[in-house]
Formats: sequence, C-alpha cells, structure tokens
Amino acid sequence: MPKKISLNEFLQRIEEEAKADHSLGLHYVRRPQVMPDKRPLLESLKQKTLTCRLCDLSKTRTNVVFGDGNPYADILFIGEAPGYNEDVQGLPFVGDAGKLLDKNLEAMGLKRSDVYIANIIKCRPPNNRAPLPDEIMACYPHLLRQIETIQPKIIVALGHIAAKTLLKTKASMSEIRGKFFSFSNIPVLPTFHPAYLLRNPADKKKVWEDMQKLLAFLKTGKTET
Ligand code: SF4
Repeated sequence: MPKKISLNEFLQRIEEEAKADHSLGLHYVRRPQVMPDKRPLLESLKQKTLTCRLCDLSKTRTNVVFGDGNPYADILFIGEAPGYNEDVQGLPFVGDAGKLLDKNLEAMGLKRSDVYIANIIKCRPPNNRAPLPDEIMACYPHLLRQIETIQPKIIVALGHIAAKTLLKTKASMSEIRGKFFSFSNIPVLPTFHPAYLLRNPADKKKVWEDMQKLLAFLKTGKTET
C-alpha cells in the first residue's frame, strides 16, 4: 500500500516537480526588464480553469471563480475559497468580506484595478465549509500558474488556509501574521481574512498595521524579519 503523505508534503512535491520539469517557471519568478503580455496568458489560463472538473466541487459550483484584477499588479491577494456571492457572480471577494477588503484598499490609496485577487480554491465548497486537503491538492496547479503569470512583487495571504497552503506551515495565524515569508522568491505577508475581521472587528487594527508593512515594502523593497 503506498505511503500516505501529508497535504504539505504533497504541495511541496507539486512545486518541486513543476520547477524540475520547467512546466512552470516558478524558480524564475522575478520581474523581467521587458514585461510579457500577461493578459492573453492569464485569459487562456482562466478559460482552462473554467472547465476544470478535477475535484468534486465542480459538481456543486455555479461558477468557477478564477480571480480578478490587474495582471500586472504588484500585489496579489490570495484568500481561501469563493463564498455564496462569489459563486453566483463568478468573481472573488464580492460579498461583505470583499467590501471590507475594498475599504482597506481605499485606505491604502489603492483600487481593485491596482491589485489582483484570487483564492486557493477556485470553486465554492458547499455551505462555505473549509476546503478539504484533496480539493486544495487538485486546485494547487491552477494557483501556481496564476502566480507565475502575474509575478507579483508580493503576495498577501488572507487567512490561515491561504497562509498554511503557501507556506506549508502548521503555525497559527497569531504566530505568522504580519511577518514576511517567501514563496518561490516572492515575499508573502500573511494577515487575517476579511471574513474573520467581520466576526472579530477588534483585530482590524492588526490588519491595518500589516498593510502599513506592505506599503513600506512596496516603497523600499525591503522586508522585515
Ligand atoms: S476547485 Fe479547483 S480543482 Fe476543483 S473543480 Fe474547481 S477549479 Fe477544478
């Protein structure tokens, strides 16, 4: 019987294989002098994802929520999974949590069209349950290709599912929130998910502190340790 591996081991393996066979250029993720035309690349990736049936969420979704925003964005926000409104509209972060994210962006002097927003999982889990490890594994290659195409300067991991998937960590959000990590040479800043903030508004201040670190990074190119 084959040895069962953990989700983190599996995700790590997908990344290593993608790097080894050059099917993804993740180890080359750095901004080239001449930017390729990312729009058709991302659109082609989106069209493939829209017909994906790699996991059972394809049976219950209304729409695949690929992601939305500026393909040339410096900042890539990655959340957990689409909710009800996102599933209906086929767009990420369009419910109450999305409105809160918009408010945060506005306070930072940014608009949605300045950033790119995606999720770890592209189809809504029924009743908004947490994505299962098998679903994360199935969807991970879509995310890797998205990251490789966008090549953001920084990824903001919204919530513990996004953070633990990207960072392969079991650490709690309170341990990693507001600190810089790395994913294929791209800085990753985990912070609380807006849906969590709707339930715990007292923590909005912490997210605002994290966003100040994000802005400082964009200005200086330097991460804190
Ligand atoms: S969640 Fe991801 S892997 Fe599963 S069907 Fe949707 S796009 Fe495909």
